[in-house]
Amino acid sequence: MVKRVYNFYAGPATLPFSVIEQASRSVLEFQNLGFSILEISHRAKKFDAVIKEAQKDIKEIMGLSDNYHVLFLQGGASLQFHMVPLNLMEVGKPALYVNTGAWSKKAIKESKILNEANTKVIASSEDKNFSYIPKDIKVDENNASYLHITTNNTIYGTEYHFIPETGDVPLIADMSSDILNRKLDFNRFALIYAGAQKNLGPAGTTLVVIRDDMVKRCESKKLPTLLNYKTHVDKDSLFNTPSVFAVYVVYLVLKWIKDEMGGLENVETHNRKKAELLYSAIDEMSDFYRGTAEKGSRSLMNITFRLPDEELEKRFVSEAAERDLIGLKGHRSVGGIRASIYNAFPYEGVEKLVDFMREFRKKN
Ligand code: PMP
Repeated sequence: MVKRVYNFYAGPATLPFSVIEQASRSVLEFQNLGFSILEISHRAKKFDAVIKEAQKDIKEIMGLSDNYHVLFLQGGASLQFHMVPLNLMEVGKPALYVNTGAWSKKAIKESKILNEANTKVIASSEDKNFSYIPKDIKVDENNASYLHITTNNTIYGTEYHFIPETGDVPLIADMSSDILNRKLDFNRFALIYAGAQKNLGPAGTTLVVIRDDMVKRCESKKLPTLLNYKTHVDKDSLFNTPSVFAVYVVYLVLKWIKDEMGGLENVETHNRKKAELLYSAIDEMSDFYRGTAEKGSRSLMNITFRLPDEELEKRFVSEAAERDLIGLKGHRSVGGIRASIYNAFPYEGVEKLVDFMREFRKKN
């Protein structure tokens, strides 16, 4: 038996325990090969089967049509901040961005490094400390390169509950902190990227889903080989050595979504139930706890709230940890409390947190 606490960290984060058990066995010996998954060649048949299956499962779970490619890259979501404009920005056609928080800002910064004049922020929630998702996202420039959004804002606890209309302008999304947390029409996006370390697996690999017409865009560009999406599409994510172990764990998590959870719909139900429980507790005790995100923009994944003062917040975090509720401290840039309850986070953990919140309020 191993000890399991309730892990509310924002990422790397809780993974399904059955996945951790299977991964542990494969670390000892992978599929009767007499060696570990850590020792397998990325060109081995048995690893090829893993990566191919993971790509197939992503397509199936997301309901993607045939004109999409699934890549497992390195460099994190942070490298995608630059790879997106590098590959997809076109001369004279502005790259459009919505600024909904710290991660959006980093994406915008990387686009500006490439071409400041051709980078345009068309909507922002900075006026209210990123507490909401702007509804008035108007893409009136038909000749824009793309529109980039951050579907879930890990630090501010906000999430898109709609997909912006962009006409013919390709829509690109950083889904690092809410990938596969609910059913969405993923075919509305031209490119989606997500660091694996929240809903997909361990740190070390980044999922990129890219539509054919976006791959065509990079064909004529003279780019460093490894930074060109075309390279990875042509070599099916095996141009160089991928993060073998991380990809393997993503493969297990996808199986967990399909077989143990019974698909994305059930994952969504589970996530909504958890978020509802926590948000209703916050609202019910609003004389003590104050949610920081506007109601219509609340995240299902990162639930952020404040207590009456910072001293109480500190004690809240440390007393919660004494009860095995760990990782509740808000991001250092904003303070407060953040409960990250990704796909694999259990309902019972949220119940335990809510019980603790009631007690803590009574006592203080
Ligand atoms: N985008 C979002 C929404 C994130 O939450 C994070 C990481 N927390 C990143 C990008 C950066 O990801 P990485 O560390 O994989 O570069």
